[in-house]
Amino acid sequence: MRLIIVGGGISGLSLAYFLIETDPSLDILIFESERRAGGKIWTDRVGGFLCEGGVNGFLDNRPKTLELAVKLGLTPLRSNDAARKRYIFSGGKLHILPESPLSFFSSNLLSLYGRMRILYEIFVPKGKKDDETLADFAKRRLGIEAYERLIDPMASGIYAGDPETMSFKNCFPRIYELEKRHGSLIKALIKLRKEAKTSGRKVGPGPGGVLTSFYDGMEVFIKALEDHLGERLKTGSRVVSIDKKGDNYIVFLSDNSRFEAEGAVIATPAHASSEMVKDFNRNLSLILKEIPYPPISVVCLGYMRDKIKQPLDGFGFLVPKREGRKVLGTLWDSSIFPNRAPEGYVLLRSMVGGARSSELALQDENRLVEMVMDVLRDVMDIRAQPDFVKIYMHEKGIPQYLLGHERRLEAIGKIVSGYRGLYITGNSYRGVGVNDCIENSYMLAERILGGNFS
Ligand SMILES: Cc1cc2nc3c(=O)[nH]c(=O)nc-3n(C[C@H](O)[C@H](O)[C@H](O)COP(=O)(O)OP(=O)(O)OC[C@H]3O[C@@H](n4cnc5c(N)ncnc54)[C@H](O)[C@@H]3O)c2cc1C
Repeated sequence: MRLIIVGGGISGLSLAYFLIETDPSLDILIFESERRAGGKIWTDRVGGFLCEGGVNGFLDNRPKTLELAVKLGLTPLRSNDAARKRYIFSGGKLHILPESPLSFFSSNLLSLYGRMRILYEIFVPKGKKDDETLADFAKRRLGIEAYERLIDPMASGIYAGDPETMSFKNCFPRIYELEKRHGSLIKALIKLRKEAKTSGRKVGPGPGGVLTSFYDGMEVFIKALEDHLGERLKTGSRVVSIDKKGDNYIVFLSDNSRFEAEGAVIATPAHASSEMVKDFNRNLSLILKEIPYPPISVVCLGYMRDKIKQPLDGFGFLVPKREGRKVLGTLWDSSIFPNRAPEGYVLLRSMVGGARSSELALQDENRLVEMVMDVLRDVMDIRAQPDFVKIYMHEKGIPQYLLGHERRLEAIGKIVSGYRGLYITGNSYRGVGVNDCIENSYMLAERILGGNFS
């Protein structure tokens, strides 16, 4: 029985792993268009700095990712305890993001009114709409100030998104469920805390967990999967189209070769998948095309430690839109993980672009560096020239789950389920993070094996 997987990002590679773990006799081929597999996960070692071109890590609170890493013989590395502090740049200065109720009330990130408005959340009635934007949800439940200073930067940090168009339900399903079940987020938190007291776990409304990677960066995950999958993975193999002949799928590659299989999984970003199926199923192609991927650039700047006055005692900072800066946020990578900068240097990684400022992402490299340096001067008082620069431009960055995403998922599911042996996965649909991709691949592998390609 042969199965073809299109796309060698973490979704496609982990799916192949889970499938052969249960059934080593499966004949699996993975086609990846680039020379290197991994998609948005790749790591560069340049001039003693370790730069992540895309993914920086994953939270350790979802077991499948850690389990997979350990099965591959890897040693996950939790971020430094000293890097737990997160900052928000607001009103011209950095504020620690309050994490406990006590620190929340003593923090001046929000005015007294803003803090009181959050407490009032307990009396706000449940929302009536099934799908609303993140901005509408946050303003309704927590007030404008909390929306602008807390929720808006959080949307940038995870999705590089625009809260005015993001579907709250699809981007933050856990919080959506909490409101539905408990009527109020504060009530839900109190209940969860009580429940967790016995287990000693920490609970909060967010995803929780500790950022985790590997000593040599995220790409070791990809390399280990590549080694495990061996000849099954074909890099430099761009799929141009998919068709069906009888009960089988035919996959056409850009070098005019073709491969036939009983099953096919499309694990490419929605925009690429849309192209691949445009002659196979036009409706599917059009719906996939509706999922936008705004561009984003990652600007890595390395400095001699002595040039920076800031203690870099945390994770980095996020910038709310109302501050009018050209950077979404900056991670203090060398404070988060060891082995990111040579002795005596630090590495700062800034994000530019995303849904709200896509025009900024793909500028000339010098201009990008200037923009980031302007922000670092105002936020961190860094006036020195960087000693090291490395830029990664993602013309298509993080998929955006806009209002109506659920309807799109239903329509995609309906079309795909009409084809026996055809599946679609990846971060365009049900979770953008590495943890989501791996969990979804795990569940898909169970479905494929359980249903015998049905
Ligand atoms: C800048 C940036 C930072 C991020 N940081 C984080 C982070 O810190 N933590 C986190 O959890 N998530 C992060 N993400 C999200 C991350 O993209 C996902 O978590 C995950 O890597 C997506 O994996 P995937 O396999 O679904 O898609 P991709 O990584 O996009 O992989 C899809 C693969 O399909 C291939 N492909 C495309 N077209 C074809 C074709 N025609 N034929 C064959 N192959 C094709 C591509 O080359 C690619 O390798 C970040 C994303 C970006 C852009």
